[in-house]
Amino acid sequence: MKVVIPEIQQRVTKLRQQLQKANYAYYVLDNPIIEDSIYDQLYRELQNIESQHPLLITPDSPTQRVGEKLTSQFISIPHHIPLYSLENAFSLDELKKWQERWQSRYGVINNKNIDYVCELKIDGAALALTYKNGLLIKGLTRGDGKTGEDITQNVRTIRSIPLKLALDDSSTIVEIRGEAFLPLDEFERLNVERGEVKESPFANPRNAVAGTLRQLDPKVVNQRRLQFFAYTLHLPQNNPLNSQWESLEWLKNQGFLVNPHRQLCPSLEAVVNYFRHWETARHYLPYITDGVVVKLNNFRLQKQLGFTKKFPRWAIALKYPAEESITIVKDIIVNVGRTGAVTPVALMEPVHLGGTIVRRATLHNHDRLTELNVHVGDTVIIRKAGEIIPEVLRVLPELHPLHSEPYKMPSHCPECGSMLVRPLGEAVTRCIYISCPAVLRGSLVHWASRDALDIQGLGEKIIILLVNNGLVKSIADLYYLTPENMTTLDRIGQKYACNLVAAINNSKKQPWARVLYGLGIRYVGSVTAKLLANNFHSAEQLSRVSVASLSSVYGVGEKIAKSIYDWFNIPKNTTLIKRLEEVGIQLKTSYNSIEKTASIRQFFLNKIFVITGKLPTLTRSKAKDLIEKEGGKVTGSVSRNTDYLLIGENGGLKLKKARILKVNLLTEKELLNLLE
Ligand code: NAD
Repeated sequence: MKVVIPEIQQRVTKLRQQLQKANYAYYVLDNPIIEDSIYDQLYRELQNIESQHPLLITPDSPTQRVGEKLTSQFISIPHHIPLYSLENAFSLDELKKWQERWQSRYGVINNKNIDYVCELKIDGAALALTYKNGLLIKGLTRGDGKTGEDITQNVRTIRSIPLKLALDDSSTIVEIRGEAFLPLDEFERLNVERGEVKESPFANPRNAVAGTLRQLDPKVVNQRRLQFFAYTLHLPQNNPLNSQWESLEWLKNQGFLVNPHRQLCPSLEAVVNYFRHWETARHYLPYITDGVVVKLNNFRLQKQLGFTKKFPRWAIALKYPAEESITIVKDIIVNVGRTGAVTPVALMEPVHLGGTIVRRATLHNHDRLTELNVHVGDTVIIRKAGEIIPEVLRVLPELHPLHSEPYKMPSHCPECGSMLVRPLGEAVTRCIYISCPAVLRGSLVHWASRDALDIQGLGEKIIILLVNNGLVKSIADLYYLTPENMTTLDRIGQKYACNLVAAINNSKKQPWARVLYGLGIRYVGSVTAKLLANNFHSAEQLSRVSVASLSSVYGVGEKIAKSIYDWFNIPKNTTLIKRLEEVGIQLKTSYNSIEKTASIRQFFLNKIFVITGKLPTLTRSKAKDLIEKEGGKVTGSVSRNTDYLLIGENGGLKLKKARILKVNLLTEKELLNLLE
């Protein structure tokens, strides 16, 4: 038996406290305090520890229960047949393991002729409905699985629940389970209304449904237009149905709404295809689904496999990856960037997030660090800011390790040892030593980056080598590198050196806008650089303009204008421009790109654009500005007059409508390419 070390015991206690608190907020108050995906990960961690140390399991552990204690407003009634939860799988690997488990239990050698039914996992609240002699007599919530709350009066207001079964099946008691849910447009309408009367909005449609079903006044429930998808049927013994698929047909014929996207799958590969298809397609549905429920179709097989204490063994919920994740901070370091900005960074236990494995996340700056109150060893929630850079969103303070202290920013630069400063009114702490090696390295990394000069093979590792060995002291020095002087360095071979020199030389063809971005002038991002290069056709011209004429350019504010003006007035920078010119870098717009600008204007002029979803890098107002600057018009809703829909993540209903009306779709990347 494994010995339980005190740290593990302590972690278990803390995890239970956190989960119990979350359960109460979620099931009783219908007002969650943490995101579902975070709850799932904490729950999984507790489950894993308990399975390795079974002595730690207690009957009141959140892993041993379904749902939550009932609130007292409604009468509690025992379910005829318990309402189980579903086991979760968070990856295709876990789905495969589930298949292996049920097969080894059932003794299947080859799995031919075994069908699965795939159903969308509707994110709502489970209901158990009883029909007697064909009439609806009872509607219960799932409650704790054994006992539910009697909400019959409220259930009667849901229009997609028939009060009388369509076919004559009058002599028996029939039990039907399914999911009550709130369509997205109804959810939005409800939250707008709540806002108007100063009530706090529901966090998500699922909590809105649960809250609505427990309303004491059925009139309120009636106004909220809940819907119901039926998915489980319990007929009395000796009925003719043999499978889940047949029972869904039965339900449909009796007048229930059955989700039309169900699919009978003859193999696990077909299940995987279904799951992949709905990973994107689900965003166009008018209700929320957070995964796919996979059920063995054959009732005989289901019966033989039976149930665990909490789940049927013959079904599993395969969930879609979360946009946020949870991990532990192993260390905190500070990173000095190309502008001298010092950023605290959390080094974490590796974790899957949005399709990649993440090991580092930004903590932004001193103020954010203080606000987060992060300690080394903390459990943190991370997400990708703007879909790209992982950041620490929140710390779970209940899980602070014992005797740990909040992390404090260092007072001196970890690279060059000089005192760090925080200019008045700025959030950022900086190293202002002009020759700090970290600043030079950062400038070179930026110069070589994809949106700037895009130099393949010139990554951070080689840059460190070149700078530390004194071969490169400025961006312009890159263009004097030869295979011969590079191969004098350890770990650099002839072939690699030749390729790198060729890639560096090739970057001389990159247009002026990219060069301008590559210079790394503060506040000049790639979009601003394009705007500037469209208006000022050379570095020479840009270096002579006043702050006033710079800020008169559409999209360039006073702050950016001042930063550009200051940059060109620093002698070190004018020397750099001169040296870049000598090596043949494009410091002016070519004739071709001026031509292109004219034809692009034709593309935009008087066209109607609509924007939907979250764009990867641009804010909506920035995208609107860019379109309007070229003569296009941006409106709020999709109609037959719309020329283009600019689509971001989670396009939702506008995207759906655009597809129906066959409106042209445009991504942010395509928009920016057009403007390049
Ligand atoms: P679940 O939501 O993961 O899955 C089971 C439920 O899926 C069923 O009870 C049923 O209501 C529903 N379902 C939807 N479509 C279905 C279909 N086609 N067939 C069968 N069932 C279908 O499990 P759960 O026990 O209801 O809730 C646990 C989950 O609730 C957790 O995984 C977590 O995500 C969330 N939760 C969150 C918090 C929080 O604080 N955020 C707290 C507690 C629970």
